[in-house]
Amino acid sequence: VDETYQRISDVDDEVKAFLTLNEEEARQQAKELDESDATAEKKLFGLPAGIKDNIVTKGLRTTCGSQFLDNFNDPLYNATVVDKLNQAKSVTIGKLNMDEFAMGSSNENSSYFTTRNPWNTDYVPGGSSGGSAAAVASGEVLYALGSDTGGSIRQPAAFCGVVGLKPTYGRVSRFGLVAFASSLDQIGPVTRTVEDNAKVLEVISGHDKMDSTSANVEVPNYSEALTGDVKGLKIAVPKEYLGEGVNKEVRDSILEALKKYEELGAEWEEVSLPHSKYAVATYYLLASSEASANLARFDGVRYGVRAENAKSMMDMFKESRSQGFGEEVKRRIMLGTFALSSGYYDAYYKKAQQVRTLIKQDFDKVLEEYDVIMGPTTPTPAFKIGEQIEDPLTMYANDILTIPVNLAGVPGISIPCGFSPEGLPIGLQIIGKHFDESTVYRAAHAFE
Ligand code: GLN
Repeated sequence: VDETYQRISDVDDEVKAFLTLNEEEARQQAKELDESDATAEKKLFGLPAGIKDNIVTKGLRTTCGSQFLDNFNDPLYNATVVDKLNQAKSVTIGKLNMDEFAMGSSNENSSYFTTRNPWNTDYVPGGSSGGSAAAVASGEVLYALGSDTGGSIRQPAAFCGVVGLKPTYGRVSRFGLVAFASSLDQIGPVTRTVEDNAKVLEVISGHDKMDSTSANVEVPNYSEALTGDVKGLKIAVPKEYLGEGVNKEVRDSILEALKKYEELGAEWEEVSLPHSKYAVATYYLLASSEASANLARFDGVRYGVRAENAKSMMDMFKESRSQGFGEEVKRRIMLGTFALSSGYYDAYYKKAQQVRTLIKQDFDKVLEEYDVIMGPTTPTPAFKIGEQIEDPLTMYANDILTIPVNLAGVPGISIPCGFSPEGLPIGLQIIGKHFDESTVYRAAHAFE
């Protein structure tokens, strides 16, 4: 823990991954652990963790990267995942920067500052869990938790050259994760190795009576799946994932990785996920609709910052929301409110739900025949800070390869598989069947 804070003080002025540090508490906790004898059976004994700032931590400021929650200094409870980390004797080092309310792909939507890509600080770390990926990549913390609604763990993991897993929807409790799009959100680990990732998932997974969407299914021992053996593994490679729009350097790197899998005894074949082309449009309708409802709770009454000088109750709601939310959050609330309005509901929201089903069926069909699906995590390596922020549609396209996985509810991991000529990491995405994180980990581990 001491070394962790030393490392943070050495590099975080440049990387800017942390919004809030938990220094006093963490050192105290470490001291108590030193004096206890609980080591052996505690899975994460004394290991320093960073937590994305949309995961509620009792008594530790939780902002969601938003000015609206700038003064949310003293949350009354822990998210279930945080309780589970505490039980495993992990030490919470601090809270990590993110795009406001997890809306974004570059960290530039944080209302505080932009986290930098540790490989080259002119570049974005990705988003929205950019702080989580950058903190792990720069060696500030051993592991971090992120959240992934449309790619927010996997895309920054790819940009920063670390391992990030979005579990199956329902694998990990969302209790205490500030909701963005409840039917898509999942918490997952960001680590340097697949083994570490598996160990953290083992701790945070499982049914939780506080989250009715958490699944009552057994949690396997993921570490045991890391056998190194992928002989006979059947890999599907969707042609839509290597088509136009995917950079040549990314495509080459993925084909190289597939060659390695062949050498290891796995087989791959090209398949099609024909409805993938509708995924971005579908996602932005559904995620924005859910966000417009979820973010209604921020009204200046119950949480966060209340606008001063309001003349009436309505005025107070309006002013608090106008001042508290940033531009991208407002854009999503307006889009979602429109899509859910009575005259347009059938044309947009309902239609998007129907397309979501088609996308899920594409995955189900391919995964009936194959063990995993592989492709790039992102169409390009990290881009420069400032390059895409003025153009939301270009920014949304970053998630074209990760979004379908959330819509289908299946697990997906990003692992490092090479570098661009500029020296920026490239991520390989491995997607599995519902609740089959074990096979995803086995395939990922064999590549390392
Ligand atoms: N970048 C996507 C968005 O802005 C995904 C975000 C996420 O997964 N939280 O919605």
